[in-house]
Amino acid sequence: MFICHMNTSPNILLIYTGGTIGMIKDFETGVLVAFNFDELLLKIPELNLLDCIINTVSFSTPIDSSDMNMERWKELGDIINSNYEKYDGFVVLHGSDTMSYTASAISFMFENLAKPIIFTGSQLPIGDLRTDAKENLITALQIAALQQKGKPVITEVGLYFEYKLLRANRTTKINAEHFEAFQSMNYPALVESGVHLKVNTSFLRVVNRRKKMVYHTHFDNNIMILKMFPGINERMLKHIFSSDTIKGVIIETYGSGNTTTKKWFIDIISDTIKKGIPVVNVTQCAGGSVEMGKYNTSMALKKAGVISGKDITTEAAVAKLMYLLGGDLPLKVLKTIYETSLRGEMSEN
Ligand code: ASP
Repeated sequence: MFICHMNTSPNILLIYTGGTIGMIKDFETGVLVAFNFDELLLKIPELNLLDCIINTVSFSTPIDSSDMNMERWKELGDIINSNYEKYDGFVVLHGSDTMSYTASAISFMFENLAKPIIFTGSQLPIGDLRTDAKENLITALQIAALQQKGKPVITEVGLYFEYKLLRANRTTKINAEHFEAFQSMNYPALVESGVHLKVNTSFLRVVNRRKKMVYHTHFDNNIMILKMFPGINERMLKHIFSSDTIKGVIIETYGSGNTTTKKWFIDIISDTIKKGIPVVNVTQCAGGSVEMGKYNTSMALKKAGVISGKDITTEAAVAKLMYLLGGDLPLKVLKTIYETSLRGEMSEN
């Protein structure tokens, strides 16, 4: 436990799931492997200077985030849920590779969230001379501890990396090397860190504190992502779509939601929807929105009943589809809910 100075200081729970931030080079192989979480904290004595009380907890086996899955999302969610009343905020250390997926999933798991859950990580391990881990961790903790009139300023799931707090379910990892590894193309930064922390209050999610937080854990991962590309092959697609394990499909389309207009393709999509399987349209562009019906090439999709993902990221689209499928909803209801912003993951028009 790291102690701060005032009795009224916020309590923050720091959760380590794994990732580069807590890794070290294996002396013999040169490969990065996870190491003891307590050692990670010993490397940052500056944490003692923060104006908050920090308790720590770690996954029993920290993982590279490439191994994240629904069970691990639940493990993380359970840690936060069982400590929800005890803490004023949560900071989650997570590998950057799938951080946007996990953080999106966590945003759906916590309905009426009234406390900050801030994800962060780093491109270089904490022990490296030029590490980005210290700044990311220290500022993430400061943001989680921000309070006004005794209440947390941030009441949503955020992702802090390289001087910006972004709405987590709006983020995508865009660079494997740069310290600025994440971007939120369709929503502005919530907090910018310079000499001062600049909170962009008007972009924050507003919480109704009278509503109780509701914790959800149901996910269904029988889904697939189909990325459009010129030359997409009928035989291959027919084969894939004939599988009876598929319960939901996300198509990453061109531009504002366009696909090939070939009859065989449209037939596969509409037959899938007729079987009661939701098909979601998200754009493979980094920014902007799906607008089915804008071009002829997407009109047929709209008529077939394809769900518009609007300006959602693929990461949030995956988490949202798994979350809603877990709720066992009739297709019509799922479509209406999917096209509605639940946690600020898509724009409202
Ligand atoms: N492979 C690592 C992970 O996602 C990379 C990182 O931590 O940034 O766990």
